[in-house]
Amino acid sequence: MFDKILIANRGEIALRVIRACREMGIKSVAVHSTADSDAMHVRMADEAICIGPAPGTDSYLNIASIIAACEVTGAQAIHPGYGFLSENAKFVQIVEDHDLTFIGPTAEHIRTMGDKITAKDTMKALGVPCVPGSDGGVPDLATAKKLGEEIGYPVIIKATAGGGGRGMKVAQTAADMESAFLTARAEGKSNFGNDEVYIEKYLTTPRHIEIQVFGDGKGKAVHLGERDCSLQRRHQKVFEEAPGPCITEEERAKIGKICADAVAKINYIGAGTIEFLYENGEFYFIEMNTRLQVEHPVTEAIFGVDLVREQIRVAEGLPMSISQDELTINGHSIEVRINAERLPNFAPCPGKITHFHAPGGLGVRMDSALYDGYSIPPYYDSLIGKLIVHGRDRQEAIARLHRALGELIVDGIDTTIPLFHALLEEGDIHTGEYNIHWLEKWLEATYGE
Ligand code: ADP
Repeated sequence: MFDKILIANRGEIALRVIRACREMGIKSVAVHSTADSDAMHVRMADEAICIGPAPGTDSYLNIASIIAACEVTGAQAIHPGYGFLSENAKFVQIVEDHDLTFIGPTAEHIRTMGDKITAKDTMKALGVPCVPGSDGGVPDLATAKKLGEEIGYPVIIKATAGGGGRGMKVAQTAADMESAFLTARAEGKSNFGNDEVYIEKYLTTPRHIEIQVFGDGKGKAVHLGERDCSLQRRHQKVFEEAPGPCITEEERAKIGKICADAVAKINYIGAGTIEFLYENGEFYFIEMNTRLQVEHPVTEAIFGVDLVREQIRVAEGLPMSISQDELTINGHSIEVRINAERLPNFAPCPGKITHFHAPGGLGVRMDSALYDGYSIPPYYDSLIGKLIVHGRDRQEAIARLHRALGELIVDGIDTTIPLFHALLEEGDIHTGEYNIHWLEKWLEATYGE
């Protein structure tokens, strides 16, 4: 059993990991930048250590400082949370070279899935359905144009190293190909240092459905159903739910088994998410995330499983405490992301929280690191909290979300809370009839964005 785990992250996810550690009787070490001395994760951990100046590159991404913090505190394992170093294969290698345990998949799996072309090739070979498109990278514009005709417009050009919605361009017709191809390439080069791109059929009205998988690293794996994360702005998720409102039990069992079998075959260890676009009853793989997702709590709610606890168990070499037969869905869960952003254009809005009140009551979970008087530093992601509700069915979950949002108070800064109040007035949200373009269209119609 680990005695002490270091959490290489901040904010709500650092608190989330501290909670799991405490329930397991494991001591936690928080790391923080100079801008985060007053942060809640620093206060809640058993120990805290400063690892550098405010910018993320000097602190939460500073590998040498994080390894040194383990040496100083005697932590045996590192939980990376999401973002920062969570999908950095080089970091995982360095952690292992220092005889420490990385709580997550192997460097090799992270590398394979981090490159979208290799990920797609691997998944295809494992029997996972993929979006029709180019076989690997597309070397030049002439080939891209030829492929555009073959696949049929519209198509999407994607940087193999892309992420966070960057490095993707849609070509509606042949006339758009040149600019889309060159832009995707340039974005790949400037943001990710890799200009390789590939082409996929652009699906016009899909939903974003992702499957939660979990492996023990020894050839055993389970799936924990799907999450529907179709409500997105600029490819960023804002509202997630589980189970998916349009997925049948048969569809879930079928795609879930394909995913669990695929990760079992590669001896995948820990939590992973296989993302699909879903249109007309078909699933199309787009990418795999080799970490805990921001939206993992909706899955935890409906299965009653602590995913961080499972991550820690398998990292220690223990078996998973969950088995496919025992995993049954109980009710419905929704998460909304509370960002420090000003509507209508979602401009970051850091500042001092003059008053904070978290909602409570049956079926309500608030994951945040906020407190009265806390000053949100301007250096990091604008996600400041996640409100998760759980009900016996979708209707109850929506009513509960409405009620809980009314209790949530975040004074002193602008947040995305009003967005969710407005969304709950929409019939399509109540019926679950939305796809990946719904929110952008609604924002345009509502705010003229
Ligand atoms: P990232 O790594 O940047 O998140 P993804 O490949 O996961 O990129 O895609 C992010 C989003 O982009 C998807 O959720 C979807 O909204 C859109 N998208 C990606 N591929 C396609 C496609 N082939 N057709 C239509 N939309 C797509």
